Amino acid sequence: MKLKRFLGIALGAILLLALVLAYNTWSRPSRQIEVAPAPVVAVNAEAVATHLADALKCATVTGLPETAATDKEFARLREHLRVSFPRVHAALAPEIIGGRSLLYTWQGTDPSLRPIMILAHMDVVPIAPGSEGDWQHPPFAGVIADGFIWGRGAWDDKANLVASLEAAELLLAEGFRPKRTVYIASGADEELGGAQGALRIAERLRERGVRLEYLLDEGLIITQGVFPKLDPPLALIGVAEKGYVSVTLRTEGTPGHASMPPAQTPIGIMSTALARLEERPLPASLSGTVREMLEVVGPEMHGIDRIALTNLWLFKPLLVARLQKQPSTNAMLRTTTAATMFHAGNKENVLPSEVAATVNFRLVPGDSIAGVLEHVRTTIADDRIKLATTPIRAEPSKVSRTDVPAYAALERSIRQVFPEAIVAPGLMIGATDARHFAEVVDNVYRFSPMRARPEDLARFHGTNERIAVANFVEMIRFYRQLILNSM
Ligand SMILES: [Zn+2]
Repeated sequence: MKLKRFLGIALGAILLLALVLAYNTWSRPSRQIEVAPAPVVAVNAEAVATHLADALKCATVTGLPETAATDKEFARLREHLRVSFPRVHAALAPEIIGGRSLLYTWQGTDPSLRPIMILAHMDVVPIAPGSEGDWQHPPFAGVIADGFIWGRGAWDDKANLVASLEAAELLLAEGFRPKRTVYIASGADEELGGAQGALRIAERLRERGVRLEYLLDEGLIITQGVFPKLDPPLALIGVAEKGYVSVTLRTEGTPGHASMPPAQTPIGIMSTALARLEERPLPASLSGTVREMLEVVGPEMHGIDRIALTNLWLFKPLLVARLQKQPSTNAMLRTTTAATMFHAGNKENVLPSEVAATVNFRLVPGDSIAGVLEHVRTTIADDRIKLATTPIRAEPSKVSRTDVPAYAALERSIRQVFPEAIVAPGLMIGATDARHFAEVVDNVYRFSPMRARPEDLARFHGTNERIAVANFVEMIRFYRQLILNSM
């Protein structure tokens, strides 16, 4: 009797659970906003593709030793923009900041409204030595072929710069006047950290007492086939960016002959410390931006993953365990630990006098550099090791809001131009120029309206960087829509 009753309750509970799961899975409504696709504005695809291709011919490379030629390439790019966008040049009067960077100001008619800013850097990373021959078209030739514009910077980040200027040029030709001021800004040293470009542009705004409504910078993109069990393209808007710090660990020993060693040499001491850091990483959690992303994407998925993502209350631990296994998803859940450098010893029969190692951490929003240092100290628990941080570091960014008009304008613009795409907030793993603007704006969004499939991701900072002409036209329409939707 007792057993029967127990089985009855258990069966009831299972049925109830199945009902709740099914209900959550199939009733959870899509969080995508309904908008009609934007009317297609006429864009001369050939002309705009040529504008971008010519911009790619300017080898505005940073990260190599500077020569007189480098400066010439930046001047050539500025001249190209001046000639290609005559209306923009006349109406938005660009200022040169920090020698090379640009700030275009499109004065709004209503000074009581906060301005918006579109940011896109003009410098590009060098070509990896030895890979030049692997390019289907030379990286600085500005070739348009097979429906693509090829070259270094086609993605990162000249397409955003040229597309936003094309959009402004179009709107000016239509006689449009913005209600709120629109800034289009372009840093010339993003790939070096932005100290001469974005940082100074932000200072200029602060000096002028400008407070931005929002800032849009390069960032996450529109992928298809990257997110598992999701068929439509996924447009992720980066609402936060991870922080960055490297910690150096150093320990000393008495140099001597290896024939009578102590129980542990400095190499052993350091190896133990590094092994502890790898074994006990900072905790993973499914919260904040990443949780919001999964909640938005969940109802759009199919299969078992949809059940899991629409029932996080139950499946969160399982999901966290699974996401931790992939480095790319693990990086979204926690502050990551990566031992990157190790220096020790110089002769096979001599005890080393000093050992140094470097561990790179990428911080999720909510963690701090001080907290990471404390974690290292307590985890290695060895005061023979001295800790220091390297000069290049950044706290994780603030998290921009998704319930404000600025985010809505972005979401709307994406859905108008890419109607089949799912829009969700996301966490940006890399760093962008946007972080320099923290003092003049609360809502920073990191999004590039570029389409990519899994096989395209290696082109980023890699070989055969390119953008489809059709996608470039979409980008222009996106920026035009965004400016209109932001007024
Ligand atoms: Zn970039």
